[in-house]
Amino acid sequence: MSRRISFLDLAASHREIRPALDQRWCEIVESSGFVGGAGVDNFERDFADYCGAAHAIGVANGTDALELILQGLGIGGGDEVIVASNTFIATAEAVVRCGATPVYVDVDPATALLDAEIVRAALTPHTAAVMAVHLYGQAVDVAALRAVTDPAGVVVIEDAAQAHGARTGGHRVGSLGVAAAFSFYPGKNLGALGDGGAVTTDDPVLAANIRSIANHGRSMRSRYEHDLVGRNSRLDGLQAALLGVKLGHLDEWNVRRRVVAGLYRELLPDGFTPFTVTEPAGHVFHLFVVRCAMDRELVGKTLTAADIDWGIHYPVPCHLQAPYRPEAGLELAVVEELAGEIISLPMHPHLDAADIERVCEVLGDVAHLA
Ligand SMILES: *Cc1c(COP(=O)(O)O)cnc(C)c1O
Repeated sequence: MSRRISFLDLAASHREIRPALDQRWCEIVESSGFVGGAGVDNFERDFADYCGAAHAIGVANGTDALELILQGLGIGGGDEVIVASNTFIATAEAVVRCGATPVYVDVDPATALLDAEIVRAALTPHTAAVMAVHLYGQAVDVAALRAVTDPAGVVVIEDAAQAHGARTGGHRVGSLGVAAAFSFYPGKNLGALGDGGAVTTDDPVLAANIRSIANHGRSMRSRYEHDLVGRNSRLDGLQAALLGVKLGHLDEWNVRRRVVAGLYRELLPDGFTPFTVTEPAGHVFHLFVVRCAMDRELVGKTLTAADIDWGIHYPVPCHLQAPYRPEAGLELAVVEELAGEIISLPMHPHLDAADIERVCEVLGDVAHLA
């Protein structure tokens, strides 16, 4: 009986760096810097540098990061925000929670990403922002997008929750739009040992504004004065310190993800088609998603029977989720077709060639069953 092939393997990553994690944990317990403090300051500086952004603000999670960017920009009632519908629900949720209206759009079938021409067609006088989701770890071509949005006075917000370290045109995500939201949910490419998130931006005014909103609207002048109605969304000192250790390994782990993806692309049997990679060295493969031409239920059952984990990201697009459904029955042909065909295969830095060979063998068997 061969061993189980898991979808992700956090324990394997943590075993690699366990002494450094233990040491940081002890330092934070000793210093009692649990909220804010040097742990958070150091990580914010390191993460901003890593992304090539001037500022990073640690927040409680990736969804808050998105919401805080929108609030920090003053986007709300009466504003439209363009969102590709094939994303995790949080992208749409943040827009709705700010009081703005999500305008769901279709995507490029080759990459599953937002496309500048689709965005151009969706612009109205009410458009305030576009959410560029770097889905599955591949960066949206933000330069092409901004050629369309900048002249219209529309800002690009990056949802980089799945793309820590990804690049396009020589720049890292987190430095491409007006601001970027990152999630440090444990399963992301850079994951905390709990929840966490960050906003990156080059704009010092927006950075200060978001920092204030995330800390009860506290004034820069005095900790006892509050300039606006804020909230509490902060990154823990412990999480920041542990994230700092993991940040030092992110590039190496992303390289290993690319190796795994390369093996998949070599070995995938007919009937399973990965998305087009526009910049091979820039993709960080948070997920490895393929379109499958045959009965997906059968594919899933066969993988499960062979002790191989799998997932679907995502089977129901945002515009078809009950609380987010637009008034008129909107149809998005590509997004809806993809939702019915995609399957996510195991992807993490600790898979080896034998694992990938076995996954692809089992997929090959499905073709014979069908
Ligand atoms: C994970 C994720 C989020 C939300 O991050 P949380 O930290 O879980 O709140 C937002 N957008 C995308 C695309 C994600 O994958």
